[in-house]
Amino acid sequence: MRLLSLLLLLLHLAPAAAQNPGENTPKIPDSLNVIFGPGRPIESPNFTGHVWVERMLTIEDEDQAVPIGNVTFPPKSRSNWHHHSAGQTLLILDGVGYYQQEGEAIQVLRKGDKVQCPPNVKHWHGAANSHWFVQLALTKEHPDGRVIWGETVTEEQYRAGILIENEQQHAATKVSIRYHHIAKISALNTMGELGALRPALSAALDAGLTVSECREVLIHLYAYTGFPRSIQGIKTLMGTVEERKAKGIKDIMGADTSAGSAGSAGAVNDEGAKYTRGKAILEELVGRKLEGRSDYGDFAPAIDVFLKEHLFADLFERDVLSYQDREITTISALVALGGVEPMLRGHLGIAMNIGVTNKQLSSLMATLETTLGEKKTREAKEVLAATLANRN
Ligand code: MN
Repeated sequence: MRLLSLLLLLLHLAPAAAQNPGENTPKIPDSLNVIFGPGRPIESPNFTGHVWVERMLTIEDEDQAVPIGNVTFPPKSRSNWHHHSAGQTLLILDGVGYYQQEGEAIQVLRKGDKVQCPPNVKHWHGAANSHWFVQLALTKEHPDGRVIWGETVTEEQYRAGILIENEQQHAATKVSIRYHHIAKISALNTMGELGALRPALSAALDAGLTVSECREVLIHLYAYTGFPRSIQGIKTLMGTVEERKAKGIKDIMGADTSAGSAGSAGAVNDEGAKYTRGKAILEELVGRKLEGRSDYGDFAPAIDVFLKEHLFADLFERDVLSYQDREITTISALVALGGVEPMLRGHLGIAMNIGVTNKQLSSLMATLETTLGEKKTREAKEVLAATLANRN
């Protein structure tokens, strides 16, 4: 009994024994990349919240030295408004943070972002509302002072960053949902699984895709799956819309392609030869100039012409879907087809070039896996992993 009391007493005393001046300092999460070490916590009137600074090393420039500091911000913590007489370079190592120059909107910064802050421009930087933030700051010395501190960032000023971050998050979620539905429609139609396509089309319409966008995915697909699949898909969409209409669901038709593109009621776009237009769009997608033809294009010049004139001019010039939407459609069709690894690799590269993120491509593979099964998706996941490895 006495032993138990003693244990209880010790347990009770334990927290008090751990007390020290830094007790309120938040604990740095193990998952945070503090590769250079967080350094020492600093309590300074120039910061809101606890901040760690590691003064790492100094570049001995002929003119003025450039000290490099590693700053670790817990969520919500940030600098005061300030400016640097010789400017500042920020390299973001991990987490999410905010950066704002006076009179401008807050920028949300993430791992890998870089900021070049011009000399004497008033600004502040710090962590996002619910994320840690690690930055390297390169700040050149200057006779007028390296850092000239100003007033604190108010809660109202900081809240503007939270709103922007939330909006970006919301937009990213919307895009992911859109890609998910496009991928399902494309994969199921490519496989000719019209029974499963019908609820997939219905789910896409429920999620806010317009009838015309769903139709455009099916039109785009004929370049990959041929007219029979494409037309069967379009007929399935017609049936789905009719069925929903009978249930009283009012679907949004959405815009058709603008006048001037192939298949539109308006005048046909004849600015420049179609082959040249298609080639220019393909160059935009791959992010480089194309010289000559591919080996198969030399062997079969007609397919090179059809590809450039028809796929990359006629279809890509139709504006109902974005280039990103068309690439998600294409990648999903290629995965469903199987055995077309070179094309899959090419289109994954294009998707990355035009801003589809690695995360979006990974979740695309997850959608395709649930739609097509593990076996069909395995090769595609390997190709994606290899494509990512090649680009890093
Ligand atoms: Mn600064």
